[in-house]
Amino acid sequence: MTPKTAIVTGAARGIGLATTRLLLAEGRRVAMIDRDAEALTAAAQELDGVLPVICDVSDPDQVAAMAESVMTEFGRIDALVNNAGVADFRPMGETDFATWRSVMATNLDGVFLTSQAVIPHLKAVGGAIVNVASISGLRASTLRAAYGTSKAAVIHLTRQQAAELGEWGVRANVVAPGPVDTKLALAVHTPAIRAAYHDAIPLNRYGQETEIAEVISFLCSDKASYVTGQTIASDGGFDSTGVGLP
Ligand code: NAD
Repeated sequence: MTPKTAIVTGAARGIGLATTRLLLAEGRRVAMIDRDAEALTAAAQELDGVLPVICDVSDPDQVAAMAESVMTEFGRIDALVNNAGVADFRPMGETDFATWRSVMATNLDGVFLTSQAVIPHLKAVGGAIVNVASISGLRASTLRAAYGTSKAAVIHLTRQQAAELGEWGVRANVVAPGPVDTKLALAVHTPAIRAAYHDAIPLNRYGQETEIAEVISFLCSDKASYVTGQTIASDGGFDSTGVGLP
């Protein structure tokens, strides 16, 4: 039987790389998408059964070429994990327009463009979309004007996708991670934010990349065959407490 396949964006490191490893271990072939050529090449070299594609998900031409090369190589696309993301932790008053646009370009336009390019192939097999948002898309804070807004928009776009694509048996869901120690978090989580998270999260710790990957893998799989349009927070219980984001 032809193995199932998946596209994972932002796969060169962090949550995307952990997801790639898990989907491979489950028997899928995985197309690893990232704009960081050096990191992507290094990560892909250590893995069997992957197709690395250098691609900036905010560029329509690169995304179209990426989808075509994945189809040429794999012949089918069963899952799309829109994970590539960038963070910016600033209040709206301090967010310049160029920063706003660059956060939206990757976090929101990237999900739109990649989904549009891949959905025809997902329709053919009744595949699944998993969009990686954030608890910052569920809860507001004095920081994260651009980041939180982009992730809230991804959550709504996912509901739109679920409504539109159910007819073809295509499911679309969101994983909303809490804080995870990746390069992205290290860049924006100050010691004060880290301490506040530690106290506010019922499990009193950051998550691990592999813990987020497990939820993504579940939503990609047939085990979630009757789950669509949902946002699952993988956040150590943070969102359930009502405590504000640090
Ligand atoms: P990371 O910075 O470790 O990895 C992100 C990857 O995405 C990098 O390899 C980067 O090169 C790639 N990327 C960024 N912009 C891209 C673009 N335009 N085109 C192609 N590739 C691009 O980050 P991470 O922490 O693993 O984050 C993965 C996702 O999880 C992001 O969407 C992020 O917003 C979300 N998230 C992370 C956390 C956290 O605490 N780490 C919390 C909530 C949500």
